[in-house]
Amino acid sequence: MTTETTFASLGLAEPIMRAIADAGYTTPTPIQAQAIPQVLEGGDLLAAAQTGTGKTAGFTLPILHHLSTQAAQSKPGRPRCLILVPTRELAAQVEESVKTYGKYLSLTSMVMFGGVNINPQFKALKSRVDILVATPGRLLDHMGQKTVDLSGVEILVLDEADRMLDMGFIRDIKKVLAVLPKQRQNLLFSATFSDEIRTLANGLLHNPKSVEVARRNTTVEVIEQSMHRVPQAHKRDLLAHLIKHHDWQQVLVFTRTKHGANKLAEKLIKDGITAAAIHGNKSQGARTKALASFKDGGVRVLVATDIAARGIDIDQLPQVVNFELPNVPEDYVHRIGRTGRAGTTGSALSLVDDEEMSYLRDIEKLIKRSIVRVEIEPGFVAPAKADLMSDERPPRPPQGRGGPRQGQGAGRGGQPGGRSGAGRSSQAKPASAGAQPAGGRSGAPGQSTQARKPRPQAALFSAKPGTRGH
Ligand code: AMP
Repeated sequence: MTTETTFASLGLAEPIMRAIADAGYTTPTPIQAQAIPQVLEGGDLLAAAQTGTGKTAGFTLPILHHLSTQAAQSKPGRPRCLILVPTRELAAQVEESVKTYGKYLSLTSMVMFGGVNINPQFKALKSRVDILVATPGRLLDHMGQKTVDLSGVEILVLDEADRMLDMGFIRDIKKVLAVLPKQRQNLLFSATFSDEIRTLANGLLHNPKSVEVARRNTTVEVIEQSMHRVPQAHKRDLLAHLIKHHDWQQVLVFTRTKHGANKLAEKLIKDGITAAAIHGNKSQGARTKALASFKDGGVRVLVATDIAARGIDIDQLPQVVNFELPNVPEDYVHRIGRTGRAGTTGSALSLVDDEEMSYLRDIEKLIKRSIVRVEIEPGFVAPAKADLMSDERPPRPPQGRGGPRQGQGAGRGGQPGGRSGAGRSSQAKPASAGAQPAGGRSGAPGQSTQARKPRPQAALFSAKPGTRGH
């Protein structure tokens, strides 16, 4: 039934329709076709949708419609819509979508996350903010300092709620919920529906409609997953060999560090393979250019860090390589989800050093299958001299799940999308270099995984908020 839906039939305001057309979207995705009418109706919503399904527009478009068509008094630092997300990269991405789809509206938005200087956020909150996209920890900081006023929130979105719970944000979420007006609309998006999510949904949502789209084909169905055991020092040569040997024309390679991404791209270029690196230290312009070349076949290999790869959406990407395994198993799923999209088959190859075997075990536990170990072809001759640089060691074996995540340690300079952490929708242009981490206590995923252990939840929500009134 959803395949018949058109954007025109959804009844979205004209300026939003124009922005959708500018974005090049012709048809709503299934989650959009289902969620948009429900959100426009004003009731609560429980949506099962993963990244890549178009879920962001699924809630952003009707929210923009509501806010732009239902006038309300707006005051500085008093948002009408609050979108809570687990990570700063997702925060930046969601706010980017708000800006994209709201570009013909006079609404304003702001992104707020930890790990960056809080002062620009104070400043931004002195102006009007209609839509606030925030990670829970930094939002709490602002609530504590009374720099944000949540008493005007008409719509609350919990995006990637499962990940927020996984990262131990439940208490923070509860504190935020406690200060929101009872009369509001609640939208909960989650990729998975664990018991914990159901508990959260039961406490938060009032007579919710539920929508569900087929899980994106991630690890299980269509992606062929394999791995080579290989010493870290041999990985660069092996990858160059594999690209040539298999004549791969479009490969997305994930590295753990920005420096590693640069070195790998340099090495591939030296070996006659066109390659580009994207990561947080590159300007937005450089990233956009690299991505465009990769998409149109100008470069065969795009080397990316997890953070930088977040916004990459390429249809039918045939090959993903994990140059190093991520130390957070969920990131593996995100990475390999870049291939095998929209029902096409894809292949994900991981290069695994002995020191990464514990990560492999965690990943296999998460995806509930084992990754096929494939012998390196006899044609590959390992370099005589191991060329291992100090910062290209494989990630250290984890102490539980508390190890620092890619891009979160010292020296993480860039922000997702090159943003500063406090952007204003109507004015801000992505900066080429973001603010430096200030060691803020929350909002950054790495800090969250370090400091916040998932806690059991029970009886967390006392009030049952009602639906948004029109
Ligand atoms: P999301 O699941 O929200 O992360 O969206 C995944 C990707 O789908 C983003 O790159 C969007 O720009 C893109 N997208 C969202 N809606 C549509 C649509 N209706 N048609 C084509 N692309 C879309």
